[in-house]
Amino acid sequence: MSMEDYDFLFKIVLIGNAGVGKTCLVRRFTQRCFFQPKPAPVEQFRGSKLVNGLSIALKIWDTAGQERFRSITQSYYRSANALILTYDITCEESFRCLPEWLREIEQYASNKVITVLVGNKIDLADKREVSQQRAAEFSEAQDMYYLETSAKESDNVEKLFLDLACRLISEA
Ligand code: GDP
Ligand code: MG
Repeated sequence: MSMEDYDFLFKIVLIGNAGVGKTCLVRRFTQRCFFQPKPAPVEQFRGSKLVNGLSIALKIWDTAGQERFRSITQSYYRSANALILTYDITCEESFRCLPEWLREIEQYASNKVITVLVGNKIDLADKREVSQQRAAEFSEAQDMYYLETSAKESDNVEKLFLDLACRLISEA
């Protein structure tokens, strides 16, 4: 499917602390691989999905090396249809920073933006620091959809983007 030939085009932006696995999630989805990402400026990926007979083009923006609050500019958020807010289940600190990210979303993103909370690295279950229950309660209170993934083992990565595409269609 060419990028020009689609029923819907959505822009998806990944945010969350450095090191949580944002770049690996996008590479797993768009290139079906897992490797050590090299630092790069903001990267744009393209992916596409067929959902209920509709072709969906996704433009996915991944921050790189500037995952500090207020260093990601308003323009990065402005045209996003969806945000993937990612933390690392083995890193308490990445979870504790989520309210800061939510403040940025409130400040910069469209009020129609769909936000998905993603707990990544579930292949490292023995090092888990953030329980599913805690994350589920947090996401419910914030009215966010919540999912746990492993970019490494390819767990729930397809589902993440597919579910997001379905939600975007239903609210388009
Ligand atoms: P980013 O800074 O959020 O873009 O994070 P990266 O995608 O660069 O990943 C940071 C580190 O976490 C790298 O060493 C990755 O190999 C590792 N990583 C990313 N996703 C996973 C995962 O699902 N499981 C495991 N075990 N490691 C991961
Ligand atoms: Mg990255």
